[in-house]
Amino acid sequence: MKIIRPKILNNFPGLVCGMSTTDGGVSEGKFGLNLSFNVQDSETSVKENRKRFFSLLGILESQVAFTQQKHTSNIAAVGHAGLNENCDALHTNSKNVFLAISIADCTPVLLYDKKQRVAAGIHAGWRGAAHRISEKMIKEMQIIYGSNVEDIIAFIGPAAGKCCYEVEAEVAEQFPKECSSKKENGKYLLDVKSVNMMQLLENGVLNSNIEMNQDCTIHNTIYHSFRRDGNQSGRMFAIIGMKE
Ligand SMILES: [Zn+2]
Repeated sequence: MKIIRPKILNNFPGLVCGMSTTDGGVSEGKFGLNLSFNVQDSETSVKENRKRFFSLLGILESQVAFTQQKHTSNIAAVGHAGLNENCDALHTNSKNVFLAISIADCTPVLLYDKKQRVAAGIHAGWRGAAHRISEKMIKEMQIIYGSNVEDIIAFIGPAAGKCCYEVEAEVAEQFPKECSSKKENGKYLLDVKSVNMMQLLENGVLNSNIEMNQDCTIHNTIYHSFRRDGNQSGRMFAIIGMKE
């Protein structure tokens, strides 16, 4: 099973962090390692896929906090596993609670405060990014946990890339000019990873503490992509949390 392990978050004792791909699952066709029950995949397969992925990370599904994502900028503090309704980002300072962000093109942003020991996961597609969800999370970590921004380590994961992610002008206009480029057909290619990166930098996260994965989920078939596969697209999980 191929999973993405952020190098920048690799060396912290007890920190569990990783993102799934399409590889290593039992679902049929493009679903591969689909981890979502909310797509047209068999429940039995998803259960087996989750078991495989979580066991590779050394965690149990009963320790995972999930989100019912709605492309909002709503953030929830979690102290235990289970489903969190109507939110697109989670943070915790509890041990043995692992945050799961569901992804198929939207940008996953994982944060770790190495001093206060706080983990955060963000679903930051263009709508969340337009509502500045990554910035909101940094501010919330400072308020709730007293995080010093210089202690925050960030991973911006595989997502729809600036090579493929075509959007209408009305969408591109919501972001800094340098984060999009105009195509000959009048539409724009949007770089949502960089939008999130800018929000982290503008709020004091150090450039040297940010790792941005360059992979584009749309043209790289090792990833699930809603833009590419529509209803046939599975979902990946980006996971972060701390072991006891
Ligand atoms: Zn691409």
